[in-house]
Amino acid sequence: MQLNLDNTFTNELPSDKNLENSRRQVVDACFSYVTPKKTTNPSLVHVSDEMLTELGITKEDSKTDNFLQIFTGNKVLKNTHPYAMCYGGHQFGNWAGQLGDGRAINLFEILHKNKRWALQLKGAGETPYSRTADGLAVLRSSIREYLCSEAMYHLGVPTTRALTLSLSGDEVLRDVLYNGNRAFEKGAIVSRAAPNFIRFGSFEILSARQNHTALQQLTDYTIKHFYPEITATGKQKYLEFLAKVRNNTIEMIIHWQRVGFVHGVMNTDNMSILGLTIDYGPYGWLEGFDFGWTPNTTDAQHKRYRFGNQSYIGLWNLFKLANALYPLIEEAEPLQQILDGYNFLFKEQYETMMKSKLGLIQNNDTDSELIGKLEETLHLIETDMTIFFRNLSNISKEDSFSKAIEKITDAFYSPIELKDDIKQHWETWCAQYIERLQQETQTNEQRKQQMDTVNPKYVLRNYMAQLAIDDANKGDYNLIEEFYQLLKQPYSEQPQHHKWFSKRPEWARNKVGCSMLSCSS
Ligand code: AMP
Ligand code: MG
Repeated sequence: MQLNLDNTFTNELPSDKNLENSRRQVVDACFSYVTPKKTTNPSLVHVSDEMLTELGITKEDSKTDNFLQIFTGNKVLKNTHPYAMCYGGHQFGNWAGQLGDGRAINLFEILHKNKRWALQLKGAGETPYSRTADGLAVLRSSIREYLCSEAMYHLGVPTTRALTLSLSGDEVLRDVLYNGNRAFEKGAIVSRAAPNFIRFGSFEILSARQNHTALQQLTDYTIKHFYPEITATGKQKYLEFLAKVRNNTIEMIIHWQRVGFVHGVMNTDNMSILGLTIDYGPYGWLEGFDFGWTPNTTDAQHKRYRFGNQSYIGLWNLFKLANALYPLIEEAEPLQQILDGYNFLFKEQYETMMKSKLGLIQNNDTDSELIGKLEETLHLIETDMTIFFRNLSNISKEDSFSKAIEKITDAFYSPIELKDDIKQHWETWCAQYIERLQQETQTNEQRKQQMDTVNPKYVLRNYMAQLAIDDANKGDYNLIEEFYQLLKQPYSEQPQHHKWFSKRPEWARNKVGCSMLSCSS
């Protein structure tokens, strides 16, 4: 296997001088060298052919024992030195101190076709940052990360990617619902890739420890390699950096709102400095459109990370990043200005995004009201988000409101509830929507075509991931492959896969793994 190795993170940033793999506070360093744990009997479950191409690895290479051993951590590639990164974070609103890569181990960075990729194993064993946990990952959560990160990429959502999904051959003890019912599960390892895996928390930990030298080193490093367009110097450089991270974070969250993705654990340690969706844990996809929904049972009480709160949390997290960067700037006012710009930018881009979902191109002062009314109306009756928006493009300018309702009825979980007041609200909205469509110059066909590029037909519905997991636990990986292929083209009709364009079945409504997920992984 010929890889163009190009390690910058370990070459340019301070390392932990202690080489022992013991759990500890790691100060004055951005990372610690570690060796992945040997697995008993590793085997590949799935390989992303697309990521092979991205990384310049041939199909033949991916079939070798060498490839398997490297991407399950059993073998360290010559001239490479695996490492775990140090970061801190605010978890559920509270400063948690040092967290770090407790079970992620970085292998190396490569440059391929002018793109930088850091390769990382998730679930490859203990590191100095493992705290009280085992450094391992189970098959169910690994399938969820593997399939979802690739699906998000094809939806056009900024995300980390996944290269391989493997079984370790070891058993891992987990308490899925944190209710005292521990059981052994199959251990697994995902190898994932991103330009970098630096988080807001990477800056926070250095700042909290008042290690301003390393803080500046990490910030300069990040700008040099990942925000090279910033040419300002001094304080201005760091301000522009924060503004760019703000913009990328907004863009990412707008995409989440567009496709109905709820991250579930938007702690600052799970916020990528590049604005990539990272750390797929108890995430979920909206079935019924509901701003109040979160899949994460660990967050059930306050629902901090609910669908409708993701925008606010993005700002909250940026506030923590701004605080962390303060020592490099030492003036609160310009930092505050950047944060103050968040709400305006978010609102503007959200409206543009929602207009594209509705197929509206012309400017009209009433659009934000039309969007707001739709969101209210969607909450009146359980309405499948994906099916609703996909079918919306079938409505034509010439339709009556009752014809329009007919075209979206499939999206209602219980169409018989569409009566009285609720029916009236839908009729009013549809009538307004059709009237608004009549002001557009596009033909119905043109509009449908445009809408179908932003309203996916297929997403990794929560129950779909669970079906793939149930089969995989029995050794059957066909659904993993089927979903991997299906979700490569989420906007295409793919009539042969039509059965996945359907509402969540009733059996999945309250099933663990489908609507209820915890951080246990
Ligand atoms: P997460 O909620 O997955 O973002 O994880 C929060 C922190 O816990 C990170 O520092 C993780 O590396 C760490 N962590 C999560 N699961 C494990 C595990 N099984 N072993 C060691 N560390 C873990
Ligand atoms: Mg994490």
